[in-house]
Amino acid sequence: MTGRLHSIQSLGAVDGPGIRAVAFLQGCPLRCAYCHNPDTWDPSGGEPIEAAELARKLLRYRSYWGKEGGVTVTGGEPLLQAAFVEELFTILQSEGVHTALDTSCTGDLAAAERVLRHTDLVLADLKFLTEEDYAAYCRGSLARVKEFLRLTERMGVPLWIRHVVVPGLTDGEEHIRALGREAASYSNLRKIELLPFRKLCLEKYRTMGIPFPLEDTPEMDEARCHALFRLLPKVGETR
Ligand code: SF4
Repeated sequence: MTGRLHSIQSLGAVDGPGIRAVAFLQGCPLRCAYCHNPDTWDPSGGEPIEAAELARKLLRYRSYWGKEGGVTVTGGEPLLQAAFVEELFTILQSEGVHTALDTSCTGDLAAAERVLRHTDLVLADLKFLTEEDYAAYCRGSLARVKEFLRLTERMGVPLWIRHVVVPGLTDGEEHIRALGREAASYSNLRKIELLPFRKLCLEKYRTMGIPFPLEDTPEMDEARCHALFRLLPKVGETR
């Protein structure tokens, strides 16, 4: 199975437990206002690669992973290439590698189910809490996200929920409490992560000649993000 790869990060420390090799796949159907990777949007971009070849490249970094680490596949939206990820994860699991899927929870559910059979951890972006905000700020659908999250619950795949905190948009205390309630409603939840909004991607947008919708929004204050985190329910972090 051939997929399209944007890039590999050999030593990732923020996309799942431990030290991980991170594969960024090409293509995304969403357009999040705070997207850091607009260069992954085009599904025909990147480089073609066989799943077995990508597995071989990732396994080169195995000595760094220790007991906690492994491989995370992100994007773009990896479920856009579900059959490719299914094959990649099948190979990696047969090698005893911990597999994590970082997803916006957008994609065909039947295909997603086949990927989840070979997924040890889902890192799910829950970006907004209303259909209106999903439509306005990322061209997505909250209902589809929830359907995917319930699927992970039914299949018993451990779940981390991740949420980008944007000043003036997703940094209200009541909003964060509501996020905590929604996240805690999934019995497979293991962790909630709040990610402060950053603008490190500005140069990419300028190079690509496209406007960054949140150019005038300030970056999120780390201390306030920590304070908001304390409003979330305590979740036992286990693998
Ligand atoms: S889902 Fe991820 S890659 Fe796609 S637009 Fe949103 S932030 Fe960017």
